[in-house]
Amino acid sequence: MGLRRWRGYDGVFAAFVVEFMRTHIFWALLALLFAATSSWAVYVLFRPSYIYNRPAQPAFVMSFDDKYVGEWYAHRELFKKYSVRATFFITMPHQLSPSEIEMLKQLAADGHEIASHSYLHENSSKFIKRNGVPAYVAKEITSAIKAMQAIGFTPSTFAYPYGARSITIDRELNKYFHLLRGDSWKVAGKGIDELDRIFYKYDGNRLVHGLGVDANSGVTLQDLEIGFRRAAQNNEAILIYAHNILEQPSGYSISPQTLESIFKLAQKHNLSSLTFRELIL
Ligand SMILES: [Zn+2]
Repeated sequence: MGLRRWRGYDGVFAAFVVEFMRTHIFWALLALLFAATSSWAVYVLFRPSYIYNRPAQPAFVMSFDDKYVGEWYAHRELFKKYSVRATFFITMPHQLSPSEIEMLKQLAADGHEIASHSYLHENSSKFIKRNGVPAYVAKEITSAIKAMQAIGFTPSTFAYPYGARSITIDRELNKYFHLLRGDSWKVAGKGIDELDRIFYKYDGNRLVHGLGVDANSGVTLQDLEIGFRRAAQNNEAILIYAHNILEQPSGYSISPQTLESIFKLAQKHNLSSLTFRELIL
């Protein structure tokens, strides 16, 4: 009895489906067509316009911040000796003297990258809290790009002054630069090899972090050796940065001797030297 009742319902339902299909087939097909077309449109609109496919290789990325152009240039031969190509993140580009501009052009001709470190070295988080994102972009980003273009450089990567950043500002600045650099520091009780974020994995990530290695960073050559070993073993790029290059380093500077030891260490671990833009372009 119960079974018959169910069969009865089944029959009614089947008849309903057949009737529905017969009368609404046009709308069903239209809905299907619409779904297919809109998902294709979403794919076309939002697919990445560029696929990052730099082959993974053990490498180290050395960068310098601010505006110590004369000091960097003075050690041009040291970079050449070890085939190291660095990235120089320039701040206050409108204040560069003609001779500094000439030196930067020489450094670029040697294969170094000339990149942006904002217009007036503002702390992005503090500036945005006071003035908002559009004002930050106008005052610190587009004006820096224009000032650099005026002297013959088009920066394609950017380092945040003070490492101050947020996901919101990253998203905005990724419209202007291929790669952004935040910062990182030595953590007590942790090896450099445990600082995951200073290792680039060639995964198309457009935000990386550099480890400060200036005299005041507390990072030793032994620390770096552990980090370089990880980069070599894992096919990763380790990112380090400094500021000035001085014989008697203090604060935010590094000695040419330490720099040379770092370059030797990179050689020992067969790390190639890459600039920031070479990580992704
Ligand atoms: Zn800086």
